[in-house]
Amino acid sequence: MATAIDPVCGMEVDTATAAGSSEYQGQTYYFCSAGCKRRFDGDPASFAEGQEPDEQQS
Ligand SMILES: [Zn+2]
Repeated sequence: MATAIDPVCGMEVDTATAAGSSEYQGQTYYFCSAGCKRRFDGDPASFAEGQEPDEQQS
């Protein structure tokens, strides 16, 4: 089980039960609701920018 931060609202979401997910620049983002996903999909750059990835693999 893994959690991710919804980049739209900042909520922590379980990746297994997330309402939706989107890939942007090779990274997958998870959302608490379809509304957050829609907002992200409409302007991914503004939400993804400045967001620190929770997990980093080297
Ligand atoms: Zn959200």
